[in-house]
Amino acid sequence: MLTKTQLATLLEEHGQPAYRATQILDWIYKKRVRSWDEMSNLPEALRNALSEQYPLRPLKHTLTKGSEDTTRKFLLELSDGRYVETVLIPASPALYGEKSDRHTLCVSSQVGCAYACKFCASGLDGFTRNLTSAEIVSQIILAEELSGEKVNNLVFMGMGEPLANFKNLCEALEMITSDWGLNIGARRITVSTSGLVPQIKKLAEIPRQIRLAISLHGPDDETRDKIMPVNRKFPVAQLFDALRVWNSKKNQKITLEYILIDGVNADLEHASVLAKRAASIKAKVNLIPYNTVEGLEWIRPSDASCKRFKSVLTNAGVSATLRLEKGHDIDAACGQLRLKKEKGTL
Ligand code: SAH
Repeated sequence: MLTKTQLATLLEEHGQPAYRATQILDWIYKKRVRSWDEMSNLPEALRNALSEQYPLRPLKHTLTKGSEDTTRKFLLELSDGRYVETVLIPASPALYGEKSDRHTLCVSSQVGCAYACKFCASGLDGFTRNLTSAEIVSQIILAEELSGEKVNNLVFMGMGEPLANFKNLCEALEMITSDWGLNIGARRITVSTSGLVPQIKKLAEIPRQIRLAISLHGPDDETRDKIMPVNRKFPVAQLFDALRVWNSKKNQKITLEYILIDGVNADLEHASVLAKRAASIKAKVNLIPYNTVEGLEWIRPSDASCKRFKSVLTNAGVSATLRLEKGHDIDAACGQLRLKKEKGTL
């Protein structure tokens, strides 16, 4: 997978005319060929030269969990034997507040994660490496091939911290949103981050109207410090300053993700502080009852407590959703399937 500019440079190096770029992009992103050999209007020598360096299917499908009409999780093998996960969610009314025929794909941006959030399986084994832009985009192409569905909504909420892989993320966004590429509208793409302040400000500068979600999980430093070590580096006040910068550049409302963990961040006082924070940046809140992770001790509050938490927000005029349970049975909380595979317990 390549961007238009990368391809133009490459073709020039090979002494090829510029119109070949259009031909190749069409084969890759529209006709979806699986190998360079299938590009019948290209000279053989060029096909051979490029196929070594740029495999069109850098990921290999290993297994699928879940079935049609439900959340499906694909475990994909990288060329170095590592694994990533990508999750296809048939519709996601709870995220957007209305029922729809959306097919949302949740993609990974790294193998493992360096941020060690205490609720998350992805960080349990530390960080291994960044995904290339081709490996990010391939998840979409493979998910469409495997499911026969068109992905029309994309969230960077799989394994990894997308903003810690900034350059490859931006390249992937170009391949995904461009009309020569996958042509998915920027407004249908959400980048989710644990709160890397400098990169949030940098991402605010890119011209595309992508959406931003923040994994907040604690409305004040005391609570958030217990859940997310990144908060010591970028405390809540700094994070919200960056979100105000984001708001000054983009039209879409920011989403604050908030996992409800019993006895940790789910008291009604937390809800009141969260409501004030959310209102201060006109954000909406996505409440997610904690998904149990093997090896982690936290538990979710009762459904009634989750609903009470939500009422505090809505009574304060903050738009909030309580995510309907999806994927609990297929280890959909990010990183769980890959951990089992790598530990041989799958
Ligand atoms: N690093 C980025 C992208 C990872 S997505 C970020 O932090 O935003 C992280 C999201 O996955 C969390 O905000 C939460 O919505 C979800 N998640 C991870 N572990 C979970 C768990 N145990 N239970 C429920 N949701 C979880």
